[in-house]
Amino acid sequence: MVPSMKTAIWWIRRDLRLSDNQALSEALHQAEKVIPLFILDPILQNSLNSGAPRLAFLYEGLRELDTSLRQRGSQLILRKGMPKNELRVLLTESGAEAVFAEEDISPYARRRDKEIDRELPLVLLPGVTVQPVSSLCKQDGTPYTVFTPFSRMWRNQSFPGNPLESPHQLPEVPALTSLDIPTSPQSLPITQFTAGESEGQRRLKTFTNEKIFHYAAERNRMDLEGTSTLSPYLRFGMISARQAAAAAYQAEAQAGNSTQRQGVEAWLNELIWRDFYAAILFNFPFVRENAFRPDFRRISWLQDAGGFTAWKEGRTGYPIVDAGMRQLNATGWMHNRARMITASFLTKDLLISWQEGEQYFMQHLLDGDPASNNGGWQWSAGTGTDAAPYFRVFNPVLQGQKYDPLGNYVRDWIPELANVPDRYIHTPWLMPPDVQQSSRCIIGKDYPGPIIDHALARQRALDAYRRSINL
Ligand code: FAD
Repeated sequence: MVPSMKTAIWWIRRDLRLSDNQALSEALHQAEKVIPLFILDPILQNSLNSGAPRLAFLYEGLRELDTSLRQRGSQLILRKGMPKNELRVLLTESGAEAVFAEEDISPYARRRDKEIDRELPLVLLPGVTVQPVSSLCKQDGTPYTVFTPFSRMWRNQSFPGNPLESPHQLPEVPALTSLDIPTSPQSLPITQFTAGESEGQRRLKTFTNEKIFHYAAERNRMDLEGTSTLSPYLRFGMISARQAAAAAYQAEAQAGNSTQRQGVEAWLNELIWRDFYAAILFNFPFVRENAFRPDFRRISWLQDAGGFTAWKEGRTGYPIVDAGMRQLNATGWMHNRARMITASFLTKDLLISWQEGEQYFMQHLLDGDPASNNGGWQWSAGTGTDAAPYFRVFNPVLQGQKYDPLGNYVRDWIPELANVPDRYIHTPWLMPPDVQQSSRCIIGKDYPGPIIDHALARQRALDAYRRSINL
C-alpha cells in the first residue's frame, strides 16, 4: 500500500512495544514518516494513584523502547504537558497529518481522547485488551455483568487476527526537540522486574513453554512461582494481550494431556478476566467511585488509622496477610492469592473501605491497573459485578495453611518468623513461651500478636454488610 500521508505521529500511551502494535502498524501503513511520541502528562504523573514504583517502571520502559527504536533507525520524542496542547504543537512543528494511538478504557483516558478527537486528527486502534472492548457486549448491545456468560461469548468470538511482527526498520524521525527521559524517582529495593518489551517477551516465552501446563495446580500456591508474572508488562503494553492469548492457544495445541490442557485453559481464563474488568470499567465508569452493587454503598466503614497502618506495613499479626503486604512493599508485585487474602482482611476483618485498599495498591503495584485493580477490590469486598458473596470471609489462617503449606512464602517475607516451627507458622501467637524462646520470636516483641480476633471480626463484618442491604 502506498502511504497516503507524509508524516504521522504514533502517540504511545500504555503500549510500550513494537511487536503486535496496531497503532504503530497503521501509522506505518498510512505515512512515510512516523514520529514515536510519549507525553508526560502532569495530571497522571501527580495523581495520587501513580505510585513511584510504577513511574520508575514506566521510565525504564521508555528508555528500553527508545533503544529499540534507535536500533531500527528511529527514536522516541518525549514531551511534557497537557496532551492536547503537546499534540497540537507537534502537529504544527512536524507537519504531521494524523495521530495514531491505542484506545484506552479508563474514564480519564476516554475523556481526554474524546476532547482531543474533537479538535485534532486522532485515530484510535484496539490493543489494550485481547478482543476490542467495544465488541464485548451481548447480542442486544448491552454489557455483561457476570463473568461466565461473558467468557462464553469471548471464547465464541473469532480470534482478532494474528499478532503483528515487530518492524525490522523504521523511518528516520525529523529533527525535533525531545526531553530527557526522567531518572527514576525511586528504585525498588528488590528489582524482580526489568522493564521493557524484551523482558516481557522472554517471560511470555518461558511461561508458555513450560509453567503454563502446571498452572491449574500451582497458580494458587504462594510459595511456588507458578504464575507468569507478566502483569506489569501487560499493564504497560510491553507485551500485547493478544500475543499472550495467541501464545496460550499455541500451548494448548501442544498440550500432551488433559492436565496440561487444563493449565492452559486456566491461564487463558485469567486473560479473559482481564478483558472482563476492562469491559466493566468501560461500560460502568462509576465503579471507580462507587460500589457496583447499590446494596453495598451504605456500609459503615471504620476509620481505623492504626489498623490501616498495620495492614499497610505488614504488621497485623496474621503471617499470610503480612507476607503479602511486605511482598508488595518490597517488590511492587503481590501474588494473586495474597491479593485476595489481604483485600478480604482489610475490608472484612478490619472493616476499612475497599477504596482505601484500592488506592494503596494503585500506589504500590507495578501492574496497578484501574480496571483490574478495581475489579479485584470490589470482588474481594463483595461489592462488585460478579463478586465473591459478601458472607464469604477469608480465614487468614486456613488460607495460609492451604496455599502456603510449609510456610515458605511467609518465611521469605517475614524474617522474624524464619525459625518458627511449621505447625505454628500461620498461628505464631499459639506458640508456647519455650517455643517462642527457641525460635527467637517473642510474640508482642519480635512479631505482633493478631490485631483483631478473626471470628469476632467476621461477625462484625457480616452485621455491617447486612445492615447496608436492609437500609
Ligand atoms: P497470571 O496468573 O500469570 O495471569 C496472567 C495475566 O492475566 C495477568 O498478568 C493479568 O494480566 C491477568 N489476570 C490474572 N488474574 C487476573 C484477575 N483476577 N483479574 C484481572 N486480570 C487478571 N491485576 C492487574 O493486572 N493489576 C492490578 O492492579 C490488579 N489488582 C488486583 C487487586 C486485587 C485486590 C486482586 C484480588 C487482584 C488484582 N489483580 C490485578 C489481578 C491479579 O492479582 C494479577 O493480575 C496477577 O496476580 C498478576 O500476576 P501474574 O502476571 O503472574 O498473573
